[in-house]
Amino acid sequence: MLQENSSTANLVEVIPLSGFNKALAYAVPATCTATVELGSLVRIPLRGRSELGVVIQLGSGQDIAPEKLKMLYEVVQEYPVLTADLLELYQWAQKYYATTPEAMLEAMIPTAIRRGMKPKTRLYVAMGQTPTQEQWSVLEKRAPKQAELLRFVQQQICAQARAPLLKRMGISASACESLVKKNYLIETQTEEAREAYADDLSQLETIASDTRPTLTSEQALAVDNLHAAISADTFAVRLLHGVTGSGKTEVYLHAVEKVVAEKGGVIFLVPEVALAPQTVGRVRARLEARGVRTVVWHSHLSDGERYDAWKALASGEAHVVVGARSAVFAPVQNLKLVIVDEEHEPSYKQDDNPRYHGRDVAVYRAHLNSAICIVGSATPSLETLYNVERGKYAVDRILNRVDNRKLPRIHLVDMRREGLSGRRKGSPISSLLADHLVDRYEKKEQSILFLNRRGFSTSLLCPDCGFVAECEHCSIPMTYHRTDKTIRCHLCGLEQKAPHSCPKCKAPEIRYRGQGTQKIEDVVQRILPRARIVRMDADSMSKKNLYRKILNDFRIGKIDILVGTQMIAKGLDFPNVTLVGLVDADRSLHVEDFRAAERTFQLIVQVSGRAGRGDRAGEVVIQTSTPHAPPIQFARKSDFDGFQLEELEQRREFNYPPFQHLIRHLFRGRNPEKVEFYMEQWTQQVSRHFGDRIVIRGPAPAPIAKIRDEYRYQLWYFVPSAQAVIDSLVALREDFKMDRTVVDQMDVDAMHMS
Ligand code: ADP
Ligand code: ZN
Repeated sequence: MLQENSSTANLVEVIPLSGFNKALAYAVPATCTATVELGSLVRIPLRGRSELGVVIQLGSGQDIAPEKLKMLYEVVQEYPVLTADLLELYQWAQKYYATTPEAMLEAMIPTAIRRGMKPKTRLYVAMGQTPTQEQWSVLEKRAPKQAELLRFVQQQICAQARAPLLKRMGISASACESLVKKNYLIETQTEEAREAYADDLSQLETIASDTRPTLTSEQALAVDNLHAAISADTFAVRLLHGVTGSGKTEVYLHAVEKVVAEKGGVIFLVPEVALAPQTVGRVRARLEARGVRTVVWHSHLSDGERYDAWKALASGEAHVVVGARSAVFAPVQNLKLVIVDEEHEPSYKQDDNPRYHGRDVAVYRAHLNSAICIVGSATPSLETLYNVERGKYAVDRILNRVDNRKLPRIHLVDMRREGLSGRRKGSPISSLLADHLVDRYEKKEQSILFLNRRGFSTSLLCPDCGFVAECEHCSIPMTYHRTDKTIRCHLCGLEQKAPHSCPKCKAPEIRYRGQGTQKIEDVVQRILPRARIVRMDADSMSKKNLYRKILNDFRIGKIDILVGTQMIAKGLDFPNVTLVGLVDADRSLHVEDFRAAERTFQLIVQVSGRAGRGDRAGEVVIQTSTPHAPPIQFARKSDFDGFQLEELEQRREFNYPPFQHLIRHLFRGRNPEKVEFYMEQWTQQVSRHFGDRIVIRGPAPAPIAKIRDEYRYQLWYFVPSAQAVIDSLVALREDFKMDRTVVDQMDVDAMHMS
């Protein structure tokens, strides 16, 4: 805990942001004593340079005379960059996720703020002292341009923006300055707000009307429970488990409104802003119609926009932030409610250092603030369900869709049988799916076809010798890009011309394996030559405007069939979609990941949820080669409890999360023998030191055994509590000497297995 020590109040402890990785004491100059606070960003002298740092303690426990200390230079931002709760969150997260102070602070404080970004100001000029008659004539004779400018300003009723004025009149800045020197003109600075929150994502949701539907009885019950929890004013986590289309957003909004009415702050997390423009738009439309300013927080903000968003929250001018993972660190004041929508989404876990889980950090931050945390999903993670089962979280369930719309009917197509005898033998689109697509097209209804993301890439395969084009630096197949006939590695970016014949056996026919969205689009176009089909893939996702345009066109009915990966499934709500096809349901099932069944179940339920959101019932066609696999069967029947029961049983048996925490420890280096050597040594250390407090699996090669010529190996630690071992594990690691060419990283509560 941070505490103030009055006898040394003119000292502070600062963590530099430049890789020093420990706190240093500094003296506070008299000019700064009024502005230095806990969490202030300060400029400090360090190693002969001027660096930035964050004040993490007022006073210092170190036994140093203040005279001996260097003075900090200045306070950089007018508000603390870390509020009191964020400082505590920092201290917890930095340790829990086994990362460095620097990396954690970097993740928590936006770059623009760290760079000392200031509000954009504008210079204005107004009339100062009016010259006498005599002075006017001197001025007109000696400096006619100055006189012209002064005359103009004199005739205006308010101050003029300096830069555009000078430009318009063709007058130099020095002319203006000499008028200021003579006191004829006065210059003033005014802070200018950028159009931060009017970011263009919102335009998508121009239709986001502010209608307030009457709550269904299940929604109303959930809202009552949430309101009661909010009134209780203590920490609690509630799971909102509602089927797709059950109106969870409406429930969140009622909770937000109550908190905001009592001047509380709200963080509303969505898995990825760019992928959930509808949700973001709806939240904003609702709140802003009630005069509540909502700040949007995502990775595409410009520095200026980021600064304005940050300042609006830090100053307490805005109370609500809607954003992706990193918004969990936004400087919201008086935080009373944190919402994590689609809490099961793996994208909440950051894939690089610091490897924090946005949902878990959200829960901890709510805890620090005695706030309520709502985690919501149609397909909650097993971790969350287990927390409900153990009574740590309360739950509100919504089992029916709004307006009693039916959950869609789900057909399973066995692609093995289809491949043997179907009318469309060998095609990635089964005859059942093709017939349904034709039917919808004729009825002028819309369809969406999803591809499992894992099956998204297309690789080159020789049908004769089985050769697959692999990257020479990474152990993964190269992806074939039809547009420019190249093969590329998505890990290291290597790009080569696609060969015409097999490089190994010289067979002339080299083929493409996998079903890219392009291929599906072509096949469907052949089935329905006149249908308007549009593909959404990584390319269109990266072009924000294109993505928006496609979604808008789809909404207004300019597109009949949308083809994309499951990436686009999140939060799509199009009433005219009555058919959803999942082309390859089992691709996510046969991967080396103990969450494979969970992911497959979630995938089927979530994509199915995009159908039948309007007045007409929806239908779903799931193509699979393993129709009897439990996650597929449970998903087909929308049997959440059945799936949960069976899957928890499996996890319990193998000691997987949620019963144990998993820490993944990855080592990599160019020399595989060296990596293996150090891992052996290290593994012995760990078992000697921890005994049976840590169950170790490995070392073994990582699923992607090589990236950029570096060999990768991993260890798994199974522990009842990561919190209980992580400090000593990190300390042990710090004392373990390794060759500099071998690099390691820990991932606590790992979600990404590759
Ligand atoms: P979910 O997130 O649970 O899938 P949404 O919040 O997207 O569901 O709601 C689905 C649709 O139903 C939205 O268009 C929403 O505006 C609408 N809706 C929500 N609650 C009601 C209600 N009580 N009555 C009518 N329509 C509602
Ligand atoms: Zn590569």
